[in-house]
Amino acid sequence: MTDPEITWLDPDTVQLRQPKTSHWEAPFLFLLFGRSRSLLLDTGATGDERAFPLVRTLDRLTAEWLRRNPAIFTRPYPLIAAHTHAHGDHIAGDRLLRARPATTVVGTTPAQVISFFGFRRWPDEVVELDLGQRVVDVIGGPGHEPSAVAFFDRASGILFTGDTVLPGHLYVRDAAQFRSTIERLLRFRDTAATPVRELRGAHIEMSGTPGVAYPPGTLEQPDEPPLPLPPRVLDRVLGALDALPGEPDGRVARKRFILVHEPG
Ligand SMILES: [Zn+2]
Repeated sequence: MTDPEITWLDPDTVQLRQPKTSHWEAPFLFLLFGRSRSLLLDTGATGDERAFPLVRTLDRLTAEWLRRNPAIFTRPYPLIAAHTHAHGDHIAGDRLLRARPATTVVGTTPAQVISFFGFRRWPDEVVELDLGQRVVDVIGGPGHEPSAVAFFDRASGILFTGDTVLPGHLYVRDAAQFRSTIERLLRFRDTAATPVRELRGAHIEMSGTPGVAYPPGTLEQPDEPPLPLPPRVLDRVLGALDALPGEPDGRVARKRFILVHEPG
């Protein structure tokens, strides 16, 4: 059993990283605490609590936060487990959470995502999710995967972008939708009442050398760059899309990411 790497980004926000020893993808998960409930973004690459103790970790972090926030009386304190998208390394822990008290696991089909968050115009509408004095904007984000969404946390200024924008390979499955999503994120960034401070995706794959990624399957990444990307990276992604070859596996390397055309 290997515990995740845990980083409190602020007193109400936790970044978890599934250890490479339990899965080479080592996805990042995020836990946001509000006055009435918490929100987990992604459930990891493993449905085996012994390999990656997701429930135990959530219980421990929640108990710690509740101790620090004695004005919150709701017991059990509710959790919504949502996903940046439905690929296996982001949803495998769902089965562990279905048995957890006061936990709602959001479905992973586009229809389930649309209905849970209440999108009426998918994917162009931005909808709000209120965690209790903490509002998260949910932004439609298909293109890497049909049910993908991005989450903007107004409290921290972090835009959680899943596998759509991260320091690694950006796999473009549907090029037209992916472009629309980047344009939508740019519009959001440029018009949001609360400034977007940084982007946090779900993996780090780049090496210490700009434009060069560790090969898929790498277990040791001693020179990986930090996870956060500046908001201007969205302009770079849009520019790279213009240069992306149309054939499968066409790629465009930029300093902080590699765009890969992977239709299908
Ligand atoms: Zn993915």
